[in-house]
Amino acid sequence: MHRLEGIKGIGPAIADKLIEMGITSAEALAVTSPKYISEEVGISKKKAIEISKNARELLKISFMTGEEYLKKRRAIGKITTGCRALDEMLGGGIETLAITELTGEYGVGKTQIAHQLSVTVQLSREEGGLEGGALYIDTEGTFRPERILQISQRFNVSNDVLKNIIFARAYNSDHQMLLIDEAPKIIEEHNIRLIVIDSIIGHFRGEYPGREALPTRQQKLNKHIRQLLALTEAYNLAVIVTNQVISDPATFFGNPNKPSGGNVLAHGSTYRIWLRKAKGGKRAAKIFDSPLHPSIECIFKITENGVEDIN
Ligand code: ADP
Ligand code: MG
Repeated sequence: MHRLEGIKGIGPAIADKLIEMGITSAEALAVTSPKYISEEVGISKKKAIEISKNARELLKISFMTGEEYLKKRRAIGKITTGCRALDEMLGGGIETLAITELTGEYGVGKTQIAHQLSVTVQLSREEGGLEGGALYIDTEGTFRPERILQISQRFNVSNDVLKNIIFARAYNSDHQMLLIDEAPKIIEEHNIRLIVIDSIIGHFRGEYPGREALPTRQQKLNKHIRQLLALTEAYNLAVIVTNQVISDPATFFGNPNKPSGGNVLAHGSTYRIWLRKAKGGKRAAKIFDSPLHPSIECIFKITENGVEDIN
C-alpha cells in the first residue's frame, strides 16, 4: 500500500480528513469517485479530481511502459472454481485484474458459483485460492450464509469461512455504487481478493425502465464498471458480476436471449460466461465474446456440495 503523503496536492489537513473517512492509502484514493471525496472531505470537486488523478499516476494505473504492464500481468492470480471443467475452460480459474461476468436465465447457477468462489478464494495458493477474503454485494436478497457453510465442507478452509466474507445488501443502484466507494477500507482491512456483485444490473433495470431512461442508466452503469475495474487494478483482485438475460425480438433462429446491460457491460467485462441448463439437470457454460478463448462448452452440475464436475 502507498501512503497518502506521497501524493502531489495532498497536505496534512486533507490527508487527515481522508484518513478519517477511511481512505488511508493512494490505492483507496485512486479508486474512490471524486464526487464522493469532495462531499465527504469538504474540498472542491476540481481539487478532488486532481488528487485522485495524482494518486492514479503514482500507482501507474493510467500510463505505463510495456515492461511495467508485463510485470503487472505476471502478478495475475487465479481462483479455482472448485470444478475442473470450469477451471480448464477458464485457463486455470477466475482471474484477478479482471471482471468476469456470469450470464444466464434464472436458476442456472450464477449465485451458486458466486457462493462457491467466496469460499475457494480463501484456499491456500497450492489449493487454488488466493488466501484472501470476499466482499459480497447482494442486490437480490439471495446470499445464504448457511449455503456457504454447506459448500465449504468439501474445501480445506478454516471455520472462519464466514468471517472472511464481508457481506452487504444493496438496496438501490445509488447504494450499490456507494458500497463500492466504501470498499477500499474493507478491502485493506480484510485482505479482500474477490468482489462479487449479484446482480450488477437488477437495480439499474428496475429504476431506469424504458428507452428514455436508457442513456442515464448506461452512463451510471459505465461509471460503476469503471470503478470496479479500477479496484481490480489497484488491489490486484478479481471481480465477479452476475447479469440477467433479456429476450431479443430480433432473433429468429438460435438463442432468443441475450445478456442485459448492452455495450457497457459487453465492453466492461473482461470475460463473459454464458450459462444454460443442459439435459438431466446438468449445466453448461461457455465463454463468449472472447477472441482469446475457444468457444467450447463445458458441463458441470450443482449438488448439495455446490458446483461440481459431472464425474
Ligand atoms: P441463478 O442465480 O442463476 O438464478 P442459482 O445460483 O440460485 O441460480 O441456482 C439455483 C439452482 O441451484 C437450483 O435450481 C438448484 O438446481 C441448485 N441448488 C441450489 N442450492 C442447492 C442445494 N442445496 N442442493 C442442490 N442444488 C442446489
Ligand atoms: Mg441468483
